[in-house]
Amino acid sequence: MTDASLNPTPGLPKSPSFYGFSRGRLADRFGELGVPRYRADQVFSWVYQKRMRDALQMTNLPAALRSQLTSLCDLALPGTPKVFASSDGMTHKFVLDLQDGARVEAVSMRTEKRLTLCVSSQVGCALKCSFCATGLMGLKRNLRAEEIVAQVIAMGDYNDWQDERFNIVFMGMGEPLANLDAVCEAVRILHDERGLNLGARRITVSTSGLVPQIRELAKLDLQVGLAVSLHATTDELRDQLVPVNKRWPIAELLDAAREYGNTVGRRTTLEYTLLGGVNDSMADADRLAKFARALPSKVNLIPYNPVPGLQWKRPTPEAVEAFAQRLYPHAPAVTIRDTKGGDLWAACGQLGGLSPS
Ligand code: SAH
Ligand code: SF4
Repeated sequence: MTDASLNPTPGLPKSPSFYGFSRGRLADRFGELGVPRYRADQVFSWVYQKRMRDALQMTNLPAALRSQLTSLCDLALPGTPKVFASSDGMTHKFVLDLQDGARVEAVSMRTEKRLTLCVSSQVGCALKCSFCATGLMGLKRNLRAEEIVAQVIAMGDYNDWQDERFNIVFMGMGEPLANLDAVCEAVRILHDERGLNLGARRITVSTSGLVPQIRELAKLDLQVGLAVSLHATTDELRDQLVPVNKRWPIAELLDAAREYGNTVGRRTTLEYTLLGGVNDSMADADRLAKFARALPSKVNLIPYNPVPGLQWKRPTPEAVEAFAQRLYPHAPAVTIRDTKGGDLWAACGQLGGLSPS
C-alpha cells in the first residue's frame, strides 16, 4: 500500500491512542500500512511541537493520510481533565477521568523559578507505606504510557505551554518502578526531540525502594534522576513505615542507589518525610547525614502532610528547622519541600481520591 492508497475500513475497533506511541513504534505502524516512516516524524512534530490535534490541518501530510490518521491512532487525550486551583493560584490539581472509569491525579506546581509537573504512574499503589493516602487505596491498576503522557499534555495545555522548561517528577500516585515498562515508554516519548524534547535531566523518578528495578532502570540508560523515599534511618523503623523495606533493607537500597548514581552521573535525592516524634530525632538526623555523605546525594525533607484516618503528626516548623540545621553542616545539600497544594489534597502523599473542598 502506498501513502496515497489508504482505505477507510469501516467498523474497525477504536484506534490506539497516539500518546502511547514512541516515534519508532508509530513509524512501524505506518510502515505496516505502506506509509513512509518519516511521516511519523511529521505527525510527532505537529502534535507535540505545534500542538495540533486536528489531523485534517496537518498540511504537509498527503490528503489520504490526513483523513485516515485518526483511524490509525486516536489524537484525543485519553481522559477528560478537571482542574482545581489552590488558593494562591500556584498549584493545580488535575483529575483525569480515564475511559474505564479509573481516576488519575496529577499536580502542577509553580514557583518563581520553574514549573514542576508531578505525574502518577498507577491508579492507587500496592506498597502501603503507612503514611500515604495512595497506599490506603490499594492498587487499582497500572497506567499505560499514553495515560502518563496525557497528564503532562493536560497540564501543559492548561498552562498554554508558556513554560518551555519544566520538570517532571514521578511523585504522584503509585510506585513508578512497579510499572517500569510504561513509565520508560512515557519517558522516551516525552524525551523525543520531535516530541516535547524534554531533557532526561528534567525528569525524576521516585521509588520507595524496588532494588531490582533500580538496577534495571540503570541498564536502560535513560539518564533520569532517581529519588529514594528513605523516611527512616534504621531497618526496624523503616520496616514499619515502608513495608517494602522487609524485602530490600536500607543497605541494599542505598547500594543500588549508589550504583545508579554512578551509572547516570547524577546525585540521588534522598526523600525523608518527617513524622513528629517518630523519625525526627537528632540521632535520626545524624544517621541520615551519614547515609547522605556516603553517596553523591541531596536530601529533601518533607514535613508530613495529613491524611484523613491516619494518626501521624506533622512536626512543628521549629522541629523541622532543627532537624535541617543538624543536617546542614554534614549533608551535601538539604532542602525542605514546601507544602504545595495542601488546601487541594494535592500535596505529597495526599493523592488518593480526596476531593478539594
Ligand atoms: N511511590 C513513590 C512516589 C510517590 S510519593 C515513592 O514512594 O517514592 C512521593 C513522596 O511523598 C514519597 O517520598 C512518599 O514517601 C512521600 N509521602 C507519601 N505520603 C506522604 C505524606 N502523607 N506526607 C508527606 N510525604 C508523603
Ligand atoms: Fe506507594 Fe509511594 Fe505511597 Fe508508598 S509512598 S504507598 S510507594 S505511592
